[in-house]
Order: sequence, then C-alpha cells, then structure tokens
Amino acid sequence: MIHYSTDIDCPLCGQGRLVLARSRSDDSYLVYCDECEIAWGRPEEAGVLEASRGLEEVAPSGIDFPTREELAMAGLDQYIRSSFYPPGVPPRGGM
Ligand SMILES: [Zn+2]
Repeated sequence: MIHYSTDIDCPLCGQGRLVLARSRSDDSYLVYCDECEIAWGRPEEAGVLEASRGLEEVAPSGIDFPTREELAMAGLDQYIRSSFYPPGVPPRGGM
C-alpha cells in the first residue's frame, strides 16, 4: 500500500520519512518517522522535536496506512508532499 509522506526531515534521526498513518486503537491520525519511530499524535505538529512521542505511545495497537481519499476526508491531504511504496512491499494495487 502506498505511504504518504509529509517530506519533513525527521528532527531526531535526520534519515527517516515522516509518514501519515492512523492509529488502530482510536482511529486518530498521526505522523511517524519510518526510521526511528518517533511519532506525533497531531499531524500539524510533525517535525517539532519537543512535541514528539514514541510510536507505541501514540498508537499502542499499531497503525494502518490510510488512503489518499481517507486523508482528504480527514482534512490531512494538505500535509501530503510525496508518496512511496515502502521497501520490500511490492506494489499490488488497491488496498
Ligand atoms: Zn527519525
């Protein structure tokens, strides 16, 4: 499935991409770093080191990757700067 990235540089590791995701525990949207797994429970705070938390704290039951349509309905498509297929997961189309 496609991941949608904010293209903000991770303030902690400087390597990862900050990716939009959804918490399985409460269906809230979040942003996390796909490298070091710090996370932000409020996408508008993504990239602010002082506001970051651990991914397991923000999404204790794991995460799902929302579609572009779901992000648009949540008003979060404004944060999308790029999209990519995560390494090791071949494009299969659909969800
Ligand atoms: Zn990082």
